[in-house]
Amino acid sequence: MNTEKITLDSYRDIAPAGVVDLLYKLAERLKGKSILHVNSTRYGGGVAEMLLRLIPFFNELGIIARWEIISGTPLFYQTTKSLHNALQGQPQAITAQMYNEYKQVNKDCAAELSLDAELAIIHDPQPAALIEYKPKDSKWIWRCHIDISNPQRKVWQFLRDYVSRYDGAIFSLPSFAQKLNITQYLLYPSIDPLSDKNKELDSLEINQVLAKYGIPSDRPMLLQVSRFDKFKDPLGVIEVYKLVKKNNDCILVLAGGSAADDPEGAMFLNSVKEQAVTDKDIFILDLPPDANIEINALQRAASVVIQKSTKEGFGLTVAEAMWKGKPVVAGAVGGINVQVIYGETGFTVNSIEGCAYRVRYLLNNPVISEKMGEKAKDYTRRNFLITRHLCDYLALITATLNIR
Ligand code: UDP
Repeated sequence: MNTEKITLDSYRDIAPAGVVDLLYKLAERLKGKSILHVNSTRYGGGVAEMLLRLIPFFNELGIIARWEIISGTPLFYQTTKSLHNALQGQPQAITAQMYNEYKQVNKDCAAELSLDAELAIIHDPQPAALIEYKPKDSKWIWRCHIDISNPQRKVWQFLRDYVSRYDGAIFSLPSFAQKLNITQYLLYPSIDPLSDKNKELDSLEINQVLAKYGIPSDRPMLLQVSRFDKFKDPLGVIEVYKLVKKNNDCILVLAGGSAADDPEGAMFLNSVKEQAVTDKDIFILDLPPDANIEINALQRAASVVIQKSTKEGFGLTVAEAMWKGKPVVAGAVGGINVQVIYGETGFTVNSIEGCAYRVRYLLNNPVISEKMGEKAKDYTRRNFLITRHLCDYLALITATLNIR
């Protein structure tokens, strides 16, 4: 845990010049305004990761910011995971009973939570139906963090009935925008360079983490950090590693955990473990939600970071690795395409063979790999840090609350 107090001024030497001053300027007219974020988990996954870091800074800027979590029954989580899968394009059987449970849990949560705020940002499909219970006179924005470019139509129609009642919607990529009668915004997610997940670590700290998990440092490490989820394609990563290993001796680390609102994670993790059981150079780490230093160290120790997703809203893990000067080889999907600039900050790939080819290329060309890593870090500094994200949010609040 960070013990020293991190304030916005701490970012002056890290973020692009002028951003911190711009933040203070933008916040001047927003002092005392109240905002509320609602999502469905406090730990696990990118949304929780970002809210945890963003909320204190809104408050430092004089905005009264709160964060509420909706929680439900196992059937509710099963339903919202199915909604999530269907919105990312996968056929799912969602029964009337499941839709009813979704509505009922949202209704119950609306009664339990304090939804009062001048502006509420409701994240992802799980709490979207709270809009039915929106207090009068407040503004509500729905923020979508998933790859919704090719959703199962019926499921999107169900959700769209709720979304179209919001005052606006935020997507992470232009291609995720939908036919909607409300204003749509584009906001890229962000990482916090001063969090335990991303702060500088020295080699002693990195080696301690490797030793803790018995990971050797005598050969190059390929790494993917992700929840154990089929859209992250860890099984594909194992295939990539096997191809690379034919020519380059290396080890593979798959580091992940599960999100509190993801009922499929544990089962999927077992199937990944089964694929790796015979190879002692594959390390599968099932990490607790607070393993931030551990993930940081692994990302810094890796020779090549892979993010072989087949669907990806944004992919914070990509920005995290890029910030650590690593070129990333990643599936050419969703938000990965705005982070990985082919041949500049890493490589986007479309197949196991293509991924293995580019991993080998980077392993065999360390000087090029290092140069790409430097560009990746600079690109992340300019585009994907928390300070830029806060600026975007302040502009959004100003516009939505019609502040003059
Ligand atoms: N993460 C973590 N522990 C894990 C797996 C992931 O802390 O075991 C973090 C990861 O470092 C990143 C976030 O969770 O900050 C995942 O965000 P991303 O956008 O990559 O994917 P999502 O899980 O939201 O689909």
